[in-house]
Amino acid sequence: MKLGRFGQDRIGVIEGADVIDVSAALDVVPPLAWPSPSGDALVTRLDEVLAAARRLLPAGHRQGLDDVRWRSPVANPSKIVGAPVNYQKHLAESRGDRGIHHGGDVKTIDVCGLFLKATSSLVGAAEGVALRFPERRNDHEVELVAVIGKAADRVPRARALDYVAGYAIGLDMTVRGTEDRSFRKSVDSYTVLGPWLTTADEVGDPGNLDLQLYVNEQLRQESNTRYLIYDVARLIEYASSFYTLYPGDLIMTGTPEGVGPVQPGDRIVARIAGLGELRVEVRSA
Ligand code: MN
Repeated sequence: MKLGRFGQDRIGVIEGADVIDVSAALDVVPPLAWPSPSGDALVTRLDEVLAAARRLLPAGHRQGLDDVRWRSPVANPSKIVGAPVNYQKHLAESRGDRGIHHGGDVKTIDVCGLFLKATSSLVGAAEGVALRFPERRNDHEVELVAVIGKAADRVPRARALDYVAGYAIGLDMTVRGTEDRSFRKSVDSYTVLGPWLTTADEVGDPGNLDLQLYVNEQLRQESNTRYLIYDVARLIEYASSFYTLYPGDLIMTGTPEGVGPVQPGDRIVARIAGLGELRVEVRSA
């Protein structure tokens, strides 16, 4: 099933070119309590939400996919986990002369580990990317994102995919510069997720998905998740060996080669097979 969030916190099921409003399914999500448990409340109850959504589908209001404003399908992740240089060819370009120096010292994932992005950086497709430092280089990175479905603490890779609720397309936007990676990637709007969540059962093998990113209709990035250095299962094993992953936590799996700059006014289109198309406008903050 494909479940999205749009407009004023409506949720809908995507069928073909339509989104069907099933917002009444949110009745199964408990109201806000304090202190709230770690993790996203909707993803925590995702099975119940999907069951309620199925019941609501026949009578749900239908709209075209382009007629709504898509927001992040996950509202409140407790963590956004990033994977540095996780495609071999991106590692090569990062070390090479194409102008991506990561402070001149590129370490591999097994050496430097994973990083975290501020959860406040998360937006959906309709919100767009707002460049706070347009005078500096701001790069696009298209990434497969795994959404964690249940608490995962020291999970071995053989069972890791059992902890994935679904997948979405992610943009891991970056200001280049000397500051720490997590700082440069945590600008408001520098994590785009969407256009919706596709449940894991519909995706099957996350290790064989074509992905592309276009800027102003020009192809910039094109690869397949089979070229990941650490695949989704290994990333979950690695992350959960250090900290517990909670429902709704986002595992951004890293970006392939072709990373490049964007300017205000650019239009980014990112595609991953089976997950839809993420259309994002870039502007000044
Ligand atoms: Mn990245």
